[in-house]
Amino acid sequence: MIDDDGLARSWRAARPEVAGVHLDSAACSRQSFAVMAATSQHARHEAEVGGYVAAEAATPVLAAGRAAVAALTSMSAADVVFTTGSGHALDLLLSTWPGPRTLACAPGEYGPNLAVMAANGFDVRPLPVDGAGRVVVADAAEALESAPPALVHLTGVASHRGGAQPVRELTELCRALGIPVVLDAAQALGQIDCAVGADVVYGSSRKWLAGPRGVGFLAVKADLADRLVRRLPPAQWQVPLAVLASFEHTEANIAARVGFSLAVGEHLAAGAATVRARLGQIGAAARSLLDGTAGWQVVEGADEPTAITTLVPPPGTEPAAVRQWLITNRAIVTTAAEVARAPFELTGPVLRVSPHVDVTTTDLHQFAGALEEATAASRVP
Ligand SMILES: *Cc1c(COP(=O)(O)O)cnc(C)c1O
Repeated sequence: MIDDDGLARSWRAARPEVAGVHLDSAACSRQSFAVMAATSQHARHEAEVGGYVAAEAATPVLAAGRAAVAALTSMSAADVVFTTGSGHALDLLLSTWPGPRTLACAPGEYGPNLAVMAANGFDVRPLPVDGAGRVVVADAAEALESAPPALVHLTGVASHRGGAQPVRELTELCRALGIPVVLDAAQALGQIDCAVGADVVYGSSRKWLAGPRGVGFLAVKADLADRLVRRLPPAQWQVPLAVLASFEHTEANIAARVGFSLAVGEHLAAGAATVRARLGQIGAAARSLLDGTAGWQVVEGADEPTAITTLVPPPGTEPAAVRQWLITNRAIVTTAAEVARAPFELTGPVLRVSPHVDVTTTDLHQFAGALEEATAASRVP
């Protein structure tokens, strides 16, 4: 069903052996030996020469990391700053947003993003979507033209289901209307093409790019970055510090940034398009194998171009209990997504299965068998 191709083999060989089956890349992928070595090497260098001297010495690696992120997001290296993750990136952007605070996003927007929008005083309105939660660009054109928000926020691939949004089409529409587009690429980067010309792109290291935890990035096109209002230090203080640079003027885990830079480099070396194609094939294979297993129903259309399979439980089954059973009894790791992840779209918790390029048909069959057992074992009588 899934051939063990060269990419699968090299990706697997570059990492420690899995204890069990890892089906949780949408939460946190497995790092490579090289990434882990770079991270620990940086910590060692800090101990040898001092943390700030080591940070200076890491400048070329970090510059390469920024350039690699820029290549994947159609930005320039100078547009990219490191953050501690996606949520942090969105908060930095919205807390410095100039002018009116209105935005449009899909009703299935990520719950924690909605919280960041609310905390920054944004008035949020829904974009028109179809039954799968996908933005209908033609309908959006009318809505956005008649009442343009200050920005459109699009989560390219959601956390609670694996459908791909029309990121390129919506970005083109918004460009024509003069509305800035902000792309949440936390799940999208690695799975779908994010080099679509969005004004802002942000993402996380640990998901599909398989970098360390606790690091991410924010990329803002220069003309928009110039209009952001610096918050720290306050804009009216006469300090010669650009807004984007001010985002990095906080304490940071430089070792994690070094590891992330290496991971993005590895991703580019593997071939971003090759990885995307492989992940799409894996998603299709997993969905056709798993749909109907022990009464679980697949949410995505078979041919969504992502590796995520979302499963709706049969009546009386709790995804969280099944997830725990799978970890405890089979060392199989998945995610149970609660309604809070997409409070205006999810109607009940779901189980998310997200293998990376190294998954085998045997792994998926093993999971399907374990899912039957877990469902029987955790059914509420
Ligand atoms: C994980 C995730 C985030 C948050 O990323 P962090 O790095 O944990 O802050 C935002 N959006 C989506 C779609 C995600 O999956």
